[in-house]
Formats: sequence, C-alpha cells, structure tokens
Amino acid sequence: MTYLDHNATTNIYQEVAKIMYDLASTGLYNPSAIHSYGRKGKSLIESSRKEIAQLLNIPNDNFKEYQITFTASGTEANNLILSNFKNGEIFISAIEHPSIFNHSKISNNVTIIQVDKDGLLDLKDLKNKLENSRSEKKLLSVMLANNNNGVIQPIKEIVKIAREYGVLVHSDFVQAAGKININIIDLDVDFASISAHKFGGPMGVGALIGKTKIHLEPIIIGGGQERGLRSGTENVPAIVGFGKAAKITKKELENNISHMKKLQKKLEEALLQRGDIKIVSHNKLRLPNTSMLINKNKKSETQLIALDMRSIAISSGSACSSGKTVVPYDLLAMGYSKEESESALRISIGRNTSKEDIEKFITTYNEINAL
Ligand code: PLP
Repeated sequence: MTYLDHNATTNIYQEVAKIMYDLASTGLYNPSAIHSYGRKGKSLIESSRKEIAQLLNIPNDNFKEYQITFTASGTEANNLILSNFKNGEIFISAIEHPSIFNHSKISNNVTIIQVDKDGLLDLKDLKNKLENSRSEKKLLSVMLANNNNGVIQPIKEIVKIAREYGVLVHSDFVQAAGKININIIDLDVDFASISAHKFGGPMGVGALIGKTKIHLEPIIIGGGQERGLRSGTENVPAIVGFGKAAKITKKELENNISHMKKLQKKLEEALLQRGDIKIVSHNKLRLPNTSMLINKNKKSETQLIALDMRSIAISSGSACSSGKTVVPYDLLAMGYSKEESESALRISIGRNTSKEDIEKFITTYNEINAL
C-alpha cells in the first residue's frame, strides 16, 4: 500500500511505540499516587511537558510562562479553549478544522472571518469585524497551517492586529507541528493546540499550550489533574509517547522538511504538466508535505475509490467521521465552485514517503485519468 494521507495520521516512531508498550505493560504509574510508582509517573509526565516546550522553541527560562495541559486530542484542546470564551465573542477563520469551525453552527457568539482565494485570512474583514465587536471578552482562533491545502497564515501579523483591539489569540498548530519550525514565543499567540499522532506520536493525546498568566476554566471536572484544568487520570504511556515523539521530531525536523519538500516538488511538477490540474494555493507559503489537487472533470469520490483499488491511500480532505465525503466548506469559502470543490484530492507526504511512492502515485493517477 502506498500511503499518502499523512495529514490524517502518520507513522508512529518505533521508539515511541516501544516506550509506550513497556509502560503500558507495567501499568501502575498513576501520577496522583504518593508511592514511588506514582512519583515516577508524575516525573515522566513532567519530562514530556519539557520536550513539548522544546518542540515549540520555549527555552527553559520561559518554561514557567507557558502552561502545557494534556488532553485526549487536538479536538479536545480546541474545545477547551473555545469553551472559555462562551460568555464572550469568538472570531474564527472560514477554513478552520471542524473542531473549531463547527462551533459556529451551534453557538451564536462565533463570527467567521473571510479568507481569500488562497485561504489566507482577509485582514480587512478581520479589522472590520473586530472594530464592530462590543463584547468585553474576545478570542480570535486562526490555524497556523491548514489541514487540507497546507497554507500557512501570517500569524504574527494577525496577532499584531488582534492586540490593537485587545483580543486574545489561539492558533491551531495541529498540522504545523513537525512540518515547520514553530517558535511560539515569536508568534506571540496566547494559546495553541497540538496533537501527538500528527508527528509520530500516538493517537488520543494532545495538548493545549497557554500563557500561564491567563486563567482558564476546565470543561472536564473531577480530581483536579493538570492543575485543575483537565481532570481524569493521565494517560501516562500516551503522554510519554507524545514527549518522545516531540523530542525525535525536533531532532529530525530539518531533514524531514527537506525530504518532504523535495517529494512535494516532484509530485506537483509532474501533475501540473498534465494541464488539467490546479494545486490549491500553489504559489503561497505552504506546508512542505501537503498538496490539494482540483481537477473539476473528476469527482473526488470516484478517484479515491479507483486509487484505493490500486493500493494508494489518499484523502479528499473532506471526509467526515463516517467516511463519507462531503463538499469541503473550506474550498467553497475560498471561492472554488461546488464542482471544483467536489473534485478535490489531498495528497499528504510523510517522513517515510519514498520517491517510489510519489512515482507510483503519478503513474497511477495518469492511468486512471486516461480511462
Ligand atoms: N486541528 C487540525 C488542523 C487537524 O488537522 C486535526 C486533525 O485532523 C485536529 C485539529 C484534530 O486533532 P485530533 O485528531 O487529535 O483530534
């Protein structure tokens, strides 16, 4: 099988799987317990927090200024931050991941900021909407990199605008982590979310990172773990795997970026040669691994099935949890037609992707589209 769906999830590092297996087979490390197993669990969790801080380039001196709260997913981290602004106004981009975007469907305090044809936030619309807001408490949530087209937002510039209006900023780093170098201090966001399984850690563990001086309220109430912000016995093996993946990712980041970039270039050059394909946000700053193709003569569902039958796993970038494809709202928001949006295919490369995988995809794509 040729797997080119690394934005959905990517290969777990073998060192991570091993360390998790060892911890899970022993069990007993409940970090809330006073005995030595408990203390070991606690110390392992604290080491993971440090590795995650390192991945985001938080130096040891600044470590205490950021609070890293472990959650069960990137989705939960996004929900945790948004829930803290229920009694205020929340501004989000039109292309956020559903864990942010779907709040606009159920809450009347969420305002959507438009994006341009490349998916970049419309800064004029942002300023207008912030100016017209009468709410005291405000949060702006804009993802650092988009999961479908890979476009990278100018977060620093966005934060500067938000500051002029006294708005706190959250950025969803889930797809960016492990694919670009992130310096959270330089970006100056107040909060960020990450998820382990997007960069070689296990599924089912994420984190909300926030400036310690800003108080947050929990959505899960219980024994007061994670300084009261996320109750529930910590998943020690997963958190340790998360930390280990962060450590390896940091070490291998530059190599992985240049490897993925080379393959992305090869893929896109070959596809553009056909003349019938558009690559979304092609000339913009994007993740080194993500290419969203539009070929409006072909429905994505038909192509996904044809590729799957030839042992190639990719995504349309709009599958909902039932596996059905739906029209991608992000492409519609970017001004693509329904017909174009329904033809989208997302190819996302990983650190383990080879030149042969890309060659196989190109040959197979050309075969199925010659039929
Ligand atoms: N945010 C973005 C941008 C994502 O791509 C994803 C997952 O695809 C998430 C959040 C959710 O992360 P998780 O799978 O850990 O819930």
